[in-house]
Amino acid sequence: MAAVDRPKRLAELGLHSERVMWRTKGPGKFENELADLESRLGLTTLEKAVAWSQTKSMWPDTFGLACCAIEMMSIVSARYDIARFGMEAFRSSPRQADLLIVSGRVAHKMAEPLRQIYDQMLEPKWVIAMGVCASSGGMFNNYTILQGVDRIVPVDIYVPFCPPRPEALMEGIIRLHEAHQAGVPPAYERVGVAQ
Ligand code: SF4
Repeated sequence: MAAVDRPKRLAELGLHSERVMWRTKGPGKFENELADLESRLGLTTLEKAVAWSQTKSMWPDTFGLACCAIEMMSIVSARYDIARFGMEAFRSSPRQADLLIVSGRVAHKMAEPLRQIYDQMLEPKWVIAMGVCASSGGMFNNYTILQGVDRIVPVDIYVPFCPPRPEALMEGIIRLHEAHQAGVPPAYERVGVAQ
């Protein structure tokens, strides 16, 4: 097995300035500071920087279905201030949006338009199922309502409750940001796109 590389100390590189008088002296303060210099710097990779910038400019599509949409709209207000994340720009065109918040029950007749909007969004893109209706059909266990939006689009985050308070939606958004920055791929890459 190959030996583990470690950074060379200055003494090993031929710098013995402090040891001319006192050769048995240990590494000096300057040498110690340089030895762990890397841990003191804010290093990153291009992938991490891109993921960070994507989470700071995630634009939701302007799309509301039912009562949950009222709670969703309030996250742009001063009280919740989603502008803190660079997300206040709800886009009217799916071609300018990368986050679809499915806020409300999905009737079967809305399934096709919803899927069309999802298909028109550019990648990478994410989906949040907001509320029990979008997540599972909720109390509407009948023939008119889709029993979970994940039957037609891959879902990244499920936000529970009926309706979820804006704080719950914000929690879902923050969890989505954390997952993306940790390198978790979008749901359409992990589970594939439903047909
Ligand atoms: S979860 Fe509740 S608030 Fe949201 S769409 Fe369903 S019934 Fe309305």
